[in-house]
Amino acid sequence: MKNKYLYIQTFGCQMNVHDSEQMAALLAQCGYKMTDNLKLADLILLNTCSIREKAAHKVYSELGRIGKLKEQNPELIIGVGGCLAQHLGTKFHKRVVHLDLVFGTHNIHRLPEMIASVKNEREKITNVDFYKSLNSIGIYAPPVKGTVSAFVTIMQGCNNFCAYCVVPYLRGPEMSRKPEDIFAEIEKLVDHGIKEVTLLGQNVNSYGKTLGKGLNFTALIKKIGKISGIERIRFMTSHPRDLSLELINCFAEEEKLCEHIHLPVQSGSNRILALMNRGYTVEEYMKKVDHLRKLSPHISITSDIIVGFPGEAQNDYQETIDMMEKIRFDSTFSFKYSERKGTAAQKLEGKIEECEKSRRLTQVQALQDHHTLQANLALEGSLQELLVEGKSKNSENDLMGRTSSWKIVNFKSESELTGKRVNVKISKAYLHSLRGKIDDI
Ligand code: SAM
Ligand code: SF4
Repeated sequence: MKNKYLYIQTFGCQMNVHDSEQMAALLAQCGYKMTDNLKLADLILLNTCSIREKAAHKVYSELGRIGKLKEQNPELIIGVGGCLAQHLGTKFHKRVVHLDLVFGTHNIHRLPEMIASVKNEREKITNVDFYKSLNSIGIYAPPVKGTVSAFVTIMQGCNNFCAYCVVPYLRGPEMSRKPEDIFAEIEKLVDHGIKEVTLLGQNVNSYGKTLGKGLNFTALIKKIGKISGIERIRFMTSHPRDLSLELINCFAEEEKLCEHIHLPVQSGSNRILALMNRGYTVEEYMKKVDHLRKLSPHISITSDIIVGFPGEAQNDYQETIDMMEKIRFDSTFSFKYSERKGTAAQKLEGKIEECEKSRRLTQVQALQDHHTLQANLALEGSLQELLVEGKSKNSENDLMGRTSSWKIVNFKSESELTGKRVNVKISKAYLHSLRGKIDDI
């Protein structure tokens, strides 16, 4: 039988990256092999993002390019999933005529039957229903051979309704997966060679709330810590309002929990944080950061920042800069506010000009680069334990590993060390990585 090839392009966050892994795993059971050659593909899926306008534009331009392939190969099936697909539903078919399939964020598990309908009935399919079950996020994706780190989705959706954000509308209400399903998935991953798991959810701190009297997030981490074969645990993303003292203490108590937290602050102005509906003040945020650093002195703290939210005056923006100077994040993802249809922020007055948003973003990013480099330079001469992930992207002869604090370290080694934990001495710091030398002692 002729091989069938699947090409997937992923836009957006870690959630989407993992959703794509699940799509590939499910379709492998239907005989599809992955390819990175578009021209070879029988099925092309774009896993889309619509967090910001720019992400949506990228999807349209990619679909334009892919549409040309259908002229040469009418049997080619083209599908879109993810947040933009959830948002547009049937309208996607009107905008992009060569699309065969539009599937929403809760419908990954239905891909095989939807593809069969497209093939057999040559009809256009749309499925963007929300379900009360967790079928989509429970799909097991076996890791690629040689991979040591894997994502595990522990919850779906979000109930927070931050004023700028479309996630609650496009991923539905928050729902936690049962702990026993999570443990079973992690045990399978360990059997496939995985040593490190990153627990994924839009707001992991509220894990368990929809399960009644089950485990909370800290208890879940501690139980995962007992799974033999798991050496490191990470999680993302954590909402500052819900970051409990219990979870902060867990960084000191649970040896396998890595010294890194991604804690999106969004703004340094209390007025803007209130307009964003974030539910904390800058002072409360900083108190939690101080506490984290007290209990876990080497912890790296990363964050997300939005500039140019409606009504963000020069002094509000200056407060964001002041907050960055005080906290000195290890790194941040920063964005220009992007207006999204249907969100509370869309109705706010005081929209900021695009050029002013760009100016603020450039400054925030320059300041962050300075802080990141300083934080990395402070590690020169230190001894760091790495989990070796494989070959370095920089050079065929080098290996790459991550510190517990999530920093990339490239180093030379004669032996194959993938999956091992090794100690290296940091010899040189750069903005995006570190260079190290295996410690012989
Ligand atoms: N659930 C996570 C949280 O609460 O931080 C992150 C969700 S979102 C995928 C990732 C980041 O995108 C957010 O932290 C925020 O900084 C940014 N973001 C979300 N909506 C945005 C918008 N309309 N404009 C600009 N940035 C946005
Ligand atoms: Fe969006 Fe806020 Fe939910 Fe994060 S917590 S996904 S920013 S609504």
